[in-house]
Amino acid sequence: SIVVLGSTNMDLVAYVAKAPARGETVTGRSFRTIPGGKGANQAVAAARAGGEVAMIGAVGSDDFGYRLRDTLEHCSVDTDLLRTVEGPSGTAHIVVDDEGGNAIVVVPGANGTVTSLSHGDEALIANADLLLLQLELPLSVVVDGAAHARRSGVRTVLTPAPVQPLPPELFDVTDLLVPNEHEATALTGRADPHAAALALLEVVPEVVVTLGAAGCLYAARGADLLAVPAPQVRAVDTTAAGDTFVGALAVALGEGRPVPEALAWAGTAAALSVRREGASTSMPYRTEIDTALGT
Ligand code: ADP
Repeated sequence: SIVVLGSTNMDLVAYVAKAPARGETVTGRSFRTIPGGKGANQAVAAARAGGEVAMIGAVGSDDFGYRLRDTLEHCSVDTDLLRTVEGPSGTAHIVVDDEGGNAIVVVPGANGTVTSLSHGDEALIANADLLLLQLELPLSVVVDGAAHARRSGVRTVLTPAPVQPLPPELFDVTDLLVPNEHEATALTGRADPHAAALALLEVVPEVVVTLGAAGCLYAARGADLLAVPAPQVRAVDTTAAGDTFVGALAVALGEGRPVPEALAWAGTAAALSVRREGASTSMPYRTEIDTALGT
């Protein structure tokens, strides 16, 4: 099974012609609330791709909390260990302008209360095939979760987003690091993704750098770099492409499929998601991925 230790957020998205300047009020065109958060997105992606998935994290005691939990349960993600804590859920306040540019304020809310693991959390992690982590929970609990997985012989997959300087003790317990191009550069100071991937191999044994429409680059110690192209699609909305990629990749790796095959399958899942609007609602089901890949 796959366990996600990560965030849930309600995305509150206002669409406007031009974003307001400080002190200014503008009338928007439309508004949507979209369940998200990197952790929840990866959990839904993995569940839709056919994985058995459980989520550890927290939602608030507000209405958003109900909806965030409900979205996960609706996708068959086990939420027994998703806490409900007094106070607001995590929110992302997003203004999207007519040029597709955006400005975002993320308020961690309930996510910020996840500072330690319960015995139940630890038992769940210890019994998993893979643990998926991102950086939208307090860093200390991310390190604790990954360290516990490592001690239990469970493979850890870290998405280093939102990107920030990472302590060596986190790299030490990361098996597979999956940055996008921007994150790979921020972590290493190398603009070239090949150079960044090789630099990251000095701190973790396996790296996948995702390259948007250009696919991804896989690096492992003692092996040649592997470039996997992405299927060509007309991109409508690339929100959560990376989370879809990681969720599907986790399913394939959890089934013991070879890395090149797992990367092609994950790339196909992500490409399918960018052809449709939305985050979790755009993520493909297993049969769609298999059909698109022709398997
Ligand atoms: P993030 O969403 O985290 O910024 P990327 O933009 O690198 O990450 O996208 C992650 C993965 O999603 C890519 O490796 C690729 O497989 C797929 N993807 C993203 N954009 C496209 C696109 N325009 N066409 C096809 N696949 C895409």
